[in-house]
Amino acid sequence: MQEMPSRYNPKETEEKWYRYWEGKGFFHAEVNPEKTPYCVVIPPPNITGILHMGHALNNTIQDIYIRFKKMRHFETLWMPGTDHAGIATQNVVEKRLASEGKTKESLGRENFLKEVWKWREQYGSTIITQLKKLGCSCDWERTRFTMDEGLSRAVLEVFVKLYEKNLIYRGNYIVNWCPRCKTALSDEEAAHRDVDGMLYYIKYPIVTTDGGGRKKGEKNYVVIATTRPETMLGDVAICVNPKDKRYEYLRGASAILPILNRKLKIIFDRKADPEFGTGLLKITPAHDPVDFEIGAAYKLEPINIMNEDATINEAGGDFKGMDRFEAREAIVEELKMRELFVKSEPHKHSVGHCYRCHTMVEPRLSKQWFVRMGPLAKPALEAVKKGKIKFYPKRWTKVYINWMKNIRDWCISRQIWWGHRLPVYYCKNCMQNGKIQDPKFKIKSKRKIRKEKGIIVSKVKPDKCPECGSTEIEQDPDVLDTWFSSWLWPFSIFGWPDEKKNIRSELKYFYPTNVLVTAQEIIFFWVARMIMAGLEFMKDIPFRDVYIHGTVRDDTGTKMSKSLGNVIDPLEIIGQFGGDALRFSIISITAQGQDVFLSPQKFEIGRNFANKLWNASRFVLMNLKEDLIFGAGSAGDAPTLADKWILSRFYEALRGVTKSLESYRINDAAARIYDFLWHEFCDWYLEIAKLTIAEGHTQRTLHTVLEKALRILHPIMPFITEDIWQRLPGKGDIDSVMLSSWPHMREGLVDKKADSEMGSLISIIQSIRNLRAAWRIPHGRGIDVFIKVKKKSTSATLIANAMYIKKLTRVANLIISTTAEKPPHAALAVMGDTEIFVPLEGVIEIEKEKKRLEEKRDSLNIELRAIEGRLKNQNFISRAPGDVVKKTQERKGFLKTEIISLEKNLDAL
Ligand SMILES: [Zn+2]
Ligand SMILES: [Zn+2]
Repeated sequence: MQEMPSRYNPKETEEKWYRYWEGKGFFHAEVNPEKTPYCVVIPPPNITGILHMGHALNNTIQDIYIRFKKMRHFETLWMPGTDHAGIATQNVVEKRLASEGKTKESLGRENFLKEVWKWREQYGSTIITQLKKLGCSCDWERTRFTMDEGLSRAVLEVFVKLYEKNLIYRGNYIVNWCPRCKTALSDEEAAHRDVDGMLYYIKYPIVTTDGGGRKKGEKNYVVIATTRPETMLGDVAICVNPKDKRYEYLRGASAILPILNRKLKIIFDRKADPEFGTGLLKITPAHDPVDFEIGAAYKLEPINIMNEDATINEAGGDFKGMDRFEAREAIVEELKMRELFVKSEPHKHSVGHCYRCHTMVEPRLSKQWFVRMGPLAKPALEAVKKGKIKFYPKRWTKVYINWMKNIRDWCISRQIWWGHRLPVYYCKNCMQNGKIQDPKFKIKSKRKIRKEKGIIVSKVKPDKCPECGSTEIEQDPDVLDTWFSSWLWPFSIFGWPDEKKNIRSELKYFYPTNVLVTAQEIIFFWVARMIMAGLEFMKDIPFRDVYIHGTVRDDTGTKMSKSLGNVIDPLEIIGQFGGDALRFSIISITAQGQDVFLSPQKFEIGRNFANKLWNASRFVLMNLKEDLIFGAGSAGDAPTLADKWILSRFYEALRGVTKSLESYRINDAAARIYDFLWHEFCDWYLEIAKLTIAEGHTQRTLHTVLEKALRILHPIMPFITEDIWQRLPGKGDIDSVMLSSWPHMREGLVDKKADSEMGSLISIIQSIRNLRAAWRIPHGRGIDVFIKVKKKSTSATLIANAMYIKKLTRVANLIISTTAEKPPHAALAVMGDTEIFVPLEGVIEIEKEKKRLEEKRDSLNIELRAIEGRLKNQNFISRAPGDVVKKTQERKGFLKTEIISLEKNLDAL
């Protein structure tokens, strides 16, 4: 047989086989009516992305399913692609320009976009090259990009359709505003987290109409608590809970806004929480979502006090031009001077942060475009409730349903340049002359959003206004949220809306896809929205299963991040241990839905496993005969107990692995293969096979088991399995293990009898080995062994396989009987109803050993007495720390058993 190198070299091997697979087109899928499709769409990584451990885990899981299903004869397609990542990419390119002293404004929109496209050409495929190193079997010929022509057409189509259905509208609402990125964000893009803030108590002077009507003790001011004092510049009212008796006297009164001296209405509404602060709420409709709603209900005109970079505008009087935090300090100083400041106290509260640059988000009144989510959410909620889409692990179903029930409209316009520009045009003429329906105060009546006059929504730029014929038309400068293209991903990648709906249509064939593998962070950003879009535009769910994997953390449980310096770079791990080692290790420690704790040492699991498999295969290949005949052997060459056993164990492993993969318990599948190959095949079968290596039954069994085991390991460790598989004889004209079939389950070869017989044989061999070790019998020394069994059948099995026992434990004379007696000076092991005796006379120096055991027993006895004394001492019990007492008690127990076992051994002598 062909010589295998003595050491496995993952780097060479992996690069070689990846080139082979890709070159041969093995990753490519086509519409094939003969086969059932199995399709996975990749969560498109950002073009700014660099492969991190989260990607490594996510993509390994997808690759395992694609390879597994391919071997089960599905037409498998893994659709790859990248996301243009609006804000993220724009930020990266802006930073790059800044290092050359340029800004996007100095370049202008058109030239800036040219720069971004240039950047994308240069770096946008970095992550794809990196995914290849991991072994990903994506159909790269089909790689899509969220801003390529087809996908852009899908975006326009969807925008126009939703607008026509009244599901897209423009409105003036409070949005999450990032003052650094200078754009609106969706609620999902402004994740809230707790910050250590302050609560500031401020006096607001009161003007009562009845002059002297105040009761005794009632002051001529009220105190209001706020976390953002700078927003008081935009206050328009004070709100009191009508049930709050403390402020009953404020009915009919008004207040004066400190510093700016504006008159403030006092309104009574249950939205004021009597428990928070002083129970009074200042109303700043332009800078707080709750205040905005209250303001709208009471027809209070909002006052916007900030510019888009969160500096104070002219509405802020003397504070104009200050940054929001600067203004906060200055206002507090001013209030102190005017004796209108009461106190401030530490206050933890939840604040939104930009998911791209982590700047604190400013709630800001702004005219933006929104998608009405209610009507879209309804069928998406039903699909999951009815079980058409299943989440793994199941608990995410509840999270999804909860979110869907409380869904809010989706802000989709972004004030950046990189992305799909809104297909919205404004006719200057109509807007000036027409009555503009500003839906500013229509928040309660969303169902009746009136279209604004002068707005033209169209896939192509109109030449003139369809209403008035004016040619003075301008396109909206905003672009769409990045997720507005990715929510269409599962069908836009197949050519929707241009794809013809014929029988060979790729869309028809591959949609709905089978499983979506993703991280929990993007369930709302992406998973939920894809379900809504799929049901709205395809009238069908986009995928059947959603597998949500955990977050990759370091071994202390901290999330990996560049700033913490605890990142493990997958490419470094691949360089050091190999892609297979990375895949196997990360999969072994990833239980369904649980977080993954990683340290570089953990990758040794996979590396060691690869080496073990390599060495075992090398042994097999070196010993397989050239003229190995496959098929049944001659009568004298029937399979032995060991052959039957290893085949039986293989089919049990196959059953387990298949079942685990089908139910998304991938770590169980990895563990099952590992146990089989390492502890059954290598530890036992190979050892036994060495004794009869030249015989036909051994040759055939080694070949069959190794070849099939490589197949079931292939989805997890694709490279090494291919390399070894290619070296094996007798696999027909199949070009790759990835094209071979998943082994068929053969129940007839699951042999319970062989399992149990081999089980006892293994235990006996282990016991004899243990006795040799316990009595320190020199390695090469032959021994005599007496085995006393109760049942005749056991005795027959052992006699039939006596050769294995003798060879594997270096036994010179082996006596197996139902009547064996314990010889004098013999070591003893008991296993159930079987007893094993090893005479020690002449094997070890009995007197010397006796003395050693006695000395050891005596010293243990001394320690035991000391410990017992201590444990009787009340002082010790009451004063020593709990775990010390516990440990002492444990030690006592240990000593007792040790002494008993030493006594037994002494008796044997
Ligand atoms: Zn930002
Ligand atoms: Zn017009």
